[in-house]
Amino acid sequence: MAVYQTSLQIENLNGLDKKYYLHPTTVPKKFIEEGPKITFHKGDGVYVTDVKDDTYIDGVSMLWNVNLGHGQKELAKAAYEQMNTLAYSSSFYGYSNEKAVRLAEKVVSLAPGDLSAVFFTSGGSESNDTAFKLARFYWHLNGRKNKKKIISINRSYHGATIAAGSATGIDAFHNFAGSKDIDIIQAKSHLTNCELGDKSDPNYEGCIRDIIEKEGAESIAAIIVEPVQGAGGIHISPEGYLRAVKDLCEENEILMISDEVICGFGRTGKMFGIDNWEVVPDIMSVAKGITSGYAQLGGVLINKDIRDTVIQYDQILGHGFTYSGHPTACAVGLKNIEILERDNILNNVNNMEKELMKGFDYLSDKHPHVAKTRTLGLLAGFDLQADRDTDKPFDESIRAASFIVEECFKRKLILRAADFEKGKNIVAIAPPLIVNKEEIEEMINIIDATLTDFKKTLIK
Ligand code: PMP
Repeated sequence: MAVYQTSLQIENLNGLDKKYYLHPTTVPKKFIEEGPKITFHKGDGVYVTDVKDDTYIDGVSMLWNVNLGHGQKELAKAAYEQMNTLAYSSSFYGYSNEKAVRLAEKVVSLAPGDLSAVFFTSGGSESNDTAFKLARFYWHLNGRKNKKKIISINRSYHGATIAAGSATGIDAFHNFAGSKDIDIIQAKSHLTNCELGDKSDPNYEGCIRDIIEKEGAESIAAIIVEPVQGAGGIHISPEGYLRAVKDLCEENEILMISDEVICGFGRTGKMFGIDNWEVVPDIMSVAKGITSGYAQLGGVLINKDIRDTVIQYDQILGHGFTYSGHPTACAVGLKNIEILERDNILNNVNNMEKELMKGFDYLSDKHPHVAKTRTLGLLAGFDLQADRDTDKPFDESIRAASFIVEECFKRKLILRAADFEKGKNIVAIAPPLIVNKEEIEEMINIIDATLTDFKKTLIK
């Protein structure tokens, strides 16, 4: 096969990369020493090819977002046509555009309960910052000016801006620059008990209750939860957890925000993650899957009460982004949802979930270090443990999840490790929603071979 770029061209490109391009969530010193791990060139379905012409299976849809897969020509065409008609227009000062209006109507029609209007952003962090501001604004307009604090859950990921980053419950994201929004408080996650099989624990939401008691409900605006924690290690909310959080919110007049940035638009086999538990949040933030990553778009949905309150306001709504309601991004979003519905993608997610679980059963039967396999739709993961019967973690010196992910990468499968928490070694898998049975088998075979070698490394 023809090589896209010669080794000299690649060397030059890597030199420029090291010199000029500061990468997100990357160790800068290591990057300058080693250069890029991979430089992507093109994609097709679940596969991506790099500049050396090596092809990989994208087992995590890049950043959990390329839901319709790579090389989706209809999305590209929607963007092209919109760019040729009206690439960009502002939504400030009462200006509007057709694609933003139509997408707003469509997204609201898919959303649960009385979520009834949407504010567009350019991504997940902006959505969560907007959600916090709208929650505070709502209480402000209701004369409850002290209701400003936001509670988030340990191990969650909500973004990288100051507010969304402060809500994020993963320390690695706080060490950078050190500043945290003082009005954002982290609650411990009780999901651990559930993972250990203790589904009867009545106290899942207990730590949130404790915080409300300590801080006073009168100071709290909202609680933000991910129905399935993604970056934190694929933690599926235990049965009853989200209902208990919602009840707690209602009891204490606190708004519930569901962060659907990963879960939204079919990832978990339902249109939104929270639909799996039939709980209706007051606010919902979305991004990623709304365009399958083909354009930068996010949004915040608000319920009828919040909308009714906000629309009475007779001053400028002092919030917005240049790219709020971006016509090209919205055209891609509309096409993306049209394809999701037309091709019954949710059905594929539910069928492929079963295939993935079969693969996981095979892996855990064969490999005793594979523990706690789990998936909701195509948001899946498993733990690696020294002894799964006693829940014993690997020694910290063995970064098992990173090791497995690295070795899978060498075998041309892209996965993701979550091992930032002491004693936790989690491997995450979230292929594009259009994945088929053979492609899932291909992924499982690679993981199987990698785990077999891992065992040999451990025994040595
Ligand atoms: N919320 C969740 C659940 C996410 O997974 C992410 C991104 N991984 C974000 C918010 C932030 O989105 P963005 O990177 O688009 O700002």
